This record gives sequence, structure tokens and C-alpha cells, in this order.
Amino acid sequence: MTTSRRTFLGGSAAAVGGLIVADKLRFFTSAESTAGPPASAVIKGAETVYRTGHSNNCDGACGHLVHVVDGRVTMVGPAPWGTKTISGAPAPAFHPRICARGLSQISNTYSPDRIKYPYKRVGPRGSGKWQRISWDEATSLIAENFAAAQRK
Ligand code: SF4
Repeated sequence: MTTSRRTFLGGSAAAVGGLIVADKLRFFTSAESTAGPPASAVIKGAETVYRTGHSNNCDGACGHLVHVVDGRVTMVGPAPWGTKTISGAPAPAFHPRICARGLSQISNTYSPDRIKYPYKRVGPRGSGKWQRISWDEATSLIAENFAAAQRK
């Protein structure tokens, strides 16, 4: 089977569009009602847009415009680059735009599967047995294990 460049790009755009639409639907769904009120009914307060980025994926070069309503991110979009760098030199001519991975951070942030607390393995490796521990205990354990590795 052969796929033309145009077909591939069209499919990719549809996939990204689906991701964005899925994100919007996800955040416009009421937690109290499965019927789902109109979008305007669940948006409260003023929207604030932050110009920022992220550093947990590739090089973090893409600018992000993060829309927040009532402390919750509702949308992430691409931010344009300025014309000058911090040093005053002309900014590079490339304009990185957010990829699907960057856009999906909104889902990662609010995923019910996101691990928000430290856990310690309490069974054999691979047994799936974990115990929630405090941040103090977690950081102490990490420090102790680093020190033990250094001693070796
Ligand atoms: S949005 Fe994508 S390409 Fe841009 S910095 Fe994040 S991971 Fe990298």
C-alpha cells in the first residue's frame, strides 16, 4: 500500500484536530451531570492566558499560550516568538509550533491515571504492590539511595 504525502498530512491533521476536540469536550463535560450542559454553562470566572512553555518533553522550544479559567487549564495553543532574543539580537527565523505531544499535556495534567503522590514498592519487582508514602519519606529514601550508590 502506498500513501501520498498529501494523504499522510491530511490524516495527521485530522488526528491532531481530533485530539484538540477531544480535549475541549473533556473539559467542557460537567462533573455532576453525564448529560453535559452547554459549554458556556460550565465556564465560570474570567479567563487568564499565560505565555509559557514546558520542559518535560523535547527541548521545550515551543511557546505556549495556556488558557486558565478558575484555576483550571482549559486550552493550550501556540504562542508566537518575539522578534528579538533576550540579548537583543534578532530572534531566529524558525517558529516552532506545538506538536501533538505538547498539546496532550492538558490531558496528562488532568488524567485520572496521573500519579500525584510518591509510592514505594513493597513487593517483588513487577508484583504491582505499592504503598503511598509522604514526600519527606520519598525524598529521604532517594537521598539515602543516592548516598549508597556513591559509597559503592
Ligand atoms: S510542543 Fe512538542 S515540539 Fe514543542 S517543545 Fe513541546 S514536545 Fe517539543
